[in-house]
Amino acid sequence: MLAISELPESPQADDWAFVFSGRNTITTSRSAPGTPWRVADVTEEWPVEMSSAVPVGYWQGKGAWAFSVPETDLNPMEHMAGNLYSLLGRVDDSLFHAQGRAYQLLHWIDTHRHCGRCGDATSVVESGRAVLCESCSLRVYPRVSPCVIVLVSRGDQMLLAAAAGFQKRFYSTLAGFMEPGETCEQAVIREVREEVGIEVGNVRYFASQPWPFPSQVMLGFFAEWQSGEIKLDPNEIEDADWFDVGAMPPTPPMASISGQLISLFMERAAS
Ligand SMILES: [Zn+2]
Repeated sequence: MLAISELPESPQADDWAFVFSGRNTITTSRSAPGTPWRVADVTEEWPVEMSSAVPVGYWQGKGAWAFSVPETDLNPMEHMAGNLYSLLGRVDDSLFHAQGRAYQLLHWIDTHRHCGRCGDATSVVESGRAVLCESCSLRVYPRVSPCVIVLVSRGDQMLLAAAAGFQKRFYSTLAGFMEPGETCEQAVIREVREEVGIEVGNVRYFASQPWPFPSQVMLGFFAEWQSGEIKLDPNEIEDADWFDVGAMPPTPPMASISGQLISLFMERAAS
């Protein structure tokens, strides 16, 4: 499993290395997608500076580091580029969490090269845990954006929605970013009201999941319909409806928290 704790100053040759190029995970074409490298293999493959290695933590008891390589340094015969999302459910959770954390840290550093207050260049400090602006002393830590995701039920039916903008239509639980100043429960009630125009109550927490696309944490809830009929926000939702357990549309995979909310509701409805 992934243990988030401080690593020594620099990587060891047999430590794990999670390699990314932009948004893609990079794997040697001899391994299964998502398989991490060893640091020694990365240094053999690319002229990477050890000082650019970003500490991820410990994975399966060994140090793990994130590396970023430019797309121009990839060889299509040797290096397989894959979307991080495509690993969800295909590799075990602990590997997905480690890959996801590596990606989030690289993405955070990449988008904080300059100070948000004075605009000067920043540097990575505290063994990779913060970026610092020397000019104005602003220190920024990685940000995680909480999102609520909710299965709304009405008796034995559940409310699922197809998001706008996806080529292949599938139905999922409703989700949205939390606003500053609100509780999770308030966010659930507001998001459901905004997206489908109904009122819900009895909001109950279920579970959470890191969602590195690029830096969310999904907070899963169940809630119950109280009043109102479905009225879509066409900017966000293409279609939404109440579904019976026996007549389900295509839904997200079990590896996602939406898939787990749906599956648990179906189990309870069947029992
Ligand atoms: Zn500054």
